[in-house]
Amino acid sequence: MSVAGKEMTGGAKVYLVGAGPGDLGLVTLRAKECIQLADVIIYDHLANPEMLSWAGDSAEIIYAGKEAGKHALTQDEINALLVAKARDGKQVVRLKGGDPFVFGRGAEEAQAVVEAGIAFELVPGVTSAIAGPAYAGIPVTQRELSSHVTFFTGHEDPAKTQGAVDYTALAKLGGTQVMLMGVERIESIARQMMEEGVRKDLPVALVRWATTGRQETLVGTLETIAKQVAELGFQPPAVAVFGEVVSLRKNLDWFGKRPLAGKRIVVTRTRKQASELSGQLRALGAEIIELPTIRIEPPADVRAFAELVQDAHTYDWIVFTSPNGVEAFFDLFYKLYSDAREIGASRIAAIGPATAQRVKEFRLHVDLQPEEYVAEAVVREFIKQGGVENLRILIARAEKARDVLPKQLSDLGAIVDEGFAYRTVPETRDATGARRRLLEGGADVITFTSSSTVENFLALGLPWPQGMRVASIGPVTSKTARQHGLKVDMEAPRHDIGGLVETIRNFFEKGGERGQR
Ligand code: SAH
Repeated sequence: MSVAGKEMTGGAKVYLVGAGPGDLGLVTLRAKECIQLADVIIYDHLANPEMLSWAGDSAEIIYAGKEAGKHALTQDEINALLVAKARDGKQVVRLKGGDPFVFGRGAEEAQAVVEAGIAFELVPGVTSAIAGPAYAGIPVTQRELSSHVTFFTGHEDPAKTQGAVDYTALAKLGGTQVMLMGVERIESIARQMMEEGVRKDLPVALVRWATTGRQETLVGTLETIAKQVAELGFQPPAVAVFGEVVSLRKNLDWFGKRPLAGKRIVVTRTRKQASELSGQLRALGAEIIELPTIRIEPPADVRAFAELVQDAHTYDWIVFTSPNGVEAFFDLFYKLYSDAREIGASRIAAIGPATAQRVKEFRLHVDLQPEEYVAEAVVREFIKQGGVENLRILIARAEKARDVLPKQLSDLGAIVDEGFAYRTVPETRDATGARRRLLEGGADVITFTSSSTVENFLALGLPWPQGMRVASIGPVTSKTARQHGLKVDMEAPRHDIGGLVETIRNFFEKGGERGQR
């Protein structure tokens, strides 16, 4: 694979890569390149696992854990693993939340790699120490309120021994102070600060799961914050901000004002369209769980399909019934030919706008596109265009698709060849941990964009998360959902991605009632 800019080439190397604070949009371009090209990816609890979907199919993906109290691998094991994988000649990406050199033990990992004589590269990330406050509407500096900012770790208990943090100095220093880790010790940390003479009513904010759809902010004062944390059961991970700048949040909280802020939405990923849907929902503040339910695989008999593709120019019409079919066809076509004109005088029909769009992306004109997205409508359209008698038609489609179309076209006198371009198989892997996140944290809404997304999701056999509502793109999809015993909470009056997004947004703006089961 070739990616613009610097490439990862030649020999073993360890890349310590900042994964940013959580929001996928805050990952650097260089980090994305590294993930795309990695042989091995070792990632942390705080690195958003959705970015693992950028990895190549053959990449080995290892979870290194590091949730408080739940260490998947010890630090020594991680260091040893980095070295061992690199010695195997692998390009190793070590993905760490935020910036690797900000309280992430990145320095120790880099040290271990260098000591083993292995090359390494550091890709800085957007640190939660700055992005966390920013997403809560808190600037870490402001000309009148704070002209310096300190990052410190709350990892050590100030009461216990002479911890590394000098609270006497911190108290004198003033300015903005950002603490990473240590929500669990907020009581003793706040007490220590007050004992050192910091005023009791200094504003304090805690931002939890900052920059993700799960972000929550708690605002108090040095005196009240520990009690608030205890009462609410406010959990890590969180960034704490101590300082006058916290008061600016009153006017600057942009994140919490987005219409879908705090909502978790499942997007069943069976098509390219999924990323458009996820993107639009994310832009409104939702946290997205992209759940792949099926995978596209080559057909059982690739050779047979390749032969049909090779003869593409001999057909009067080539009919595509899905974007996947278009892709599979042209992948093969351009392996066989290097000139688009080899398609000859064949005309192209596409069922549905997404299929037509994919054809256009290959710079070919779509000659026939029925209004309705069903096989019967294609047949009607062919009749309108003067019939198909004695015309040679190639239909590129999925294995095991409905056979209405070939049959009806043959009945009208056409000479039809069916090409099995691909097959869909259930997705059994959970590379991004999407399934685990759904099971652990539930969701507010699941979106269905076709009947097959309903069927494929249910076929996974996952328990239905409590209160998860159903949003359907239109009546056909809704009917399938109901046939499977689901209650449809929202149905888009306009049956496209934009319509679905608008429907979900309206639902929550009106204060959407409880979900099912
Ligand atoms: N290298 C990381 C920090 C690692 S230490 C960075 O630059 O962000 C782990 C601590 O980072 C957590 O205990 C928490 O205090 C903070 N943190 C990381 N990501 C966070 C997030 N999305 N929201 C809130 N805090 C986060």
